[in-house]
Amino acid sequence: GTSLVWFKADLRIKDNPALSAATAAAAATSRPVIALFLVNVGEWLGHDMAPIRADFLLRNLACLKKSLAALNIRLIVRNIEENGLDSSETVAEVARAVDARTVYWNREFEVDERKRDKKTETILKAAGVEVAHFQDQCVMDPGSVLTKEGKPYKVFTKFKYTWITLVVRNRVHAQFPPAPVANSVELPAAATAYADAHSDCPTKLDTGLQLDEAKAKAAREMFPAGEDEAHARLTHFLTDKARKYDSARDLPASDGTSSLSPYLSSGIITSRQCISAALKANNNKMEGGTEGLSKWISEVIWRDFYRHILVEFPRVSKNRAFKSETENIPWLYDDEAFAAWSEGRTGYPFVDAGMRQLNSLGWMHNRLRMVTAMFLAKNLFLDWKMGERYFMRHLIDGDLANNNGGWQWCAGTGVDCAPYFRIFNPLSQSTKCDPKGDYIRRWVPELAKLKGKAIHDPYGELPKAEFLKLGYPAPIVDHKFARDRFLTAFKLAVKKL
Ligand code: FAD
Repeated sequence: GTSLVWFKADLRIKDNPALSAATAAAAATSRPVIALFLVNVGEWLGHDMAPIRADFLLRNLACLKKSLAALNIRLIVRNIEENGLDSSETVAEVARAVDARTVYWNREFEVDERKRDKKTETILKAAGVEVAHFQDQCVMDPGSVLTKEGKPYKVFTKFKYTWITLVVRNRVHAQFPPAPVANSVELPAAATAYADAHSDCPTKLDTGLQLDEAKAKAAREMFPAGEDEAHARLTHFLTDKARKYDSARDLPASDGTSSLSPYLSSGIITSRQCISAALKANNNKMEGGTEGLSKWISEVIWRDFYRHILVEFPRVSKNRAFKSETENIPWLYDDEAFAAWSEGRTGYPFVDAGMRQLNSLGWMHNRLRMVTAMFLAKNLFLDWKMGERYFMRHLIDGDLANNNGGWQWCAGTGVDCAPYFRIFNPLSQSTKCDPKGDYIRRWVPELAKLKGKAIHDPYGELPKAEFLKLGYPAPIVDHKFARDRFLTAFKLAVKKL
C-alpha cells in the first residue's frame, strides 16, 4: 500500500500539514508516499479563474514537482478532461491505481470545493481507503473565532481582537507541522508504472485558459514561481519595506506592499508563515511596535476574516449579498458603461489607470481595487457581481473570499463594509493617493505629458481644444449626479423591505 497526498491550492513543501502528516505516517509504517495534482480546466473556468492565474499555478506545479523529487516523492498529474470522470472519481481512480491506503489533503472552503471534498471522502471510504484532511488556509480554523455567545463575528475589529487573543495565548502562529520526511520506501511496481504514465506537468493550457506570450513573459518576470521566491519576498518586505507600509500602502506609484497575494492565493506560502515572520520582526507584538508591521499583520488578519465569513455564511460564494436587504437594489446592467470601466476609458484618469494596470499585469494595487470597485458600484450603479467576475477573470491572485469580501465592502452590501453613504470621489482619491500623478502617467500614456492638476482631471482643467487633442474620453458620469442616484436608490431599496 501507499500514502497519497492530493495537492490543490497548497503547492508548497513547508508548512503543509497534509504532506507532513503523510510523510510522518508513511515513515512510521514503511509505506511509500506519492503525490497527485489534478488539472481541471472545466472547474477552473467555471470558477472564473484567470489564464494568468492558471499559468502561475502550472509554473508553481513544476517547482513543486522538483521539491517533491528532492524528497524522493513522485508527482502524478491527471488532466480531468481526458478521462470523463470528475475530480472525486479521478482521485479514487488514482488511489486504486497506486494502491493507496490513506489519501491526505488540505481543505478548501468554497461551496463547490467543499462538496467535491465531501464526495471524494465518501467514495474513498466506500472503497476502504482512509482519508485525512487538514486546515492550512487560515491561521485560526474557521469556526474557532467566535463571540461569547458562540456566534461568528460580523465586525472586523472585534474579530481581530479575539483572533489576536487566541493566537497569542495558544501560540498558534508557532505551531508549524514538522518538516516532511523524505520517502525512503520504493513504490510498488504498479504505482511506479502509473506515475511514469502520468508524470508530465503541462506548461500551457488551451480551451479558454491560454495566455498570450507577452503576458506570460511579463508574469514570469513580475511573479516568478516557487516557494523560495515567496519567502524571499516576505523577507525583503519585512526588512526593507514594512516599516513604511502604513503610509506607503496607499500610494500606488510606490512599491510599498509585499505583492505576496498570488503566492498566498495559490498556497505557495501560508498566512501562518507570514504572521510568524512579521511577529518576529515586530518584537513579538501583534499590535503596537512598528506601525507599518502591525498594520500589515492586520491586513493578513482580514484575509482570515473573509475566509471565516465564507465558511459561516456560504451564501456569499453563491452570488448573494452578505446583507440580504441590499439584494433589492435595482443595479444597472449597462454593457457600454461596463465596457468603458473594464477597458479603462471612463474619463477618470485614476480609475482608468487602475483598470489598465489590471488588464496588463493581472494584478492591481489595493487602493485602486477599492477605487475602481466603488466606482463601478456607486458611480456607474452597475451590479457589483459583474465587477467581481471581471476581477476574478483577470487577477493572478484571484481568490473568492478576498475578492468577494473586497467587492461587497466597496458596494455597501458586505460584512463590516464601507457605509453606503461613503462614496469615494475619484478626483480626490487621485490627488490624495497619486499626488504627483506618476501612477496615472505610467498607465494612461495619453496623459503622460500633463502637469499639475490636469493629470487628475484633464476634462475639467484643460481648455476644450487642448483636451480634445489628448484622445482621452470625457468623464462617463458626473460624480455629484452619480452620488445622488446611488444614495436615493440605495435608501429606497433597503426601505422597501
Ligand atoms: P499587502 O498589502 O502586502 O498585504 C499582504 C496580504 O494580506 C495580501 O497578499 C493579502 O493576502 C492580505 N490582504 C491585504 N489586504 C487585504 C484585504 N483588504 N482583504 C483581504 N486580504 C487582504 N486579494 C486577493 O488576494 N485576491 C483577490 O482576488 C482580491 N480581490 C480584491 C478585490 C477588491 C475589490 C478589493 C478592494 C480587494 C481585493 N483583494 C484581493 C485584497 C487586496 O487588494 C490584495 O490582497 C492586495 O492588494 C494584494 O497585494 P499585496 O500582496 O501587496 O498586499
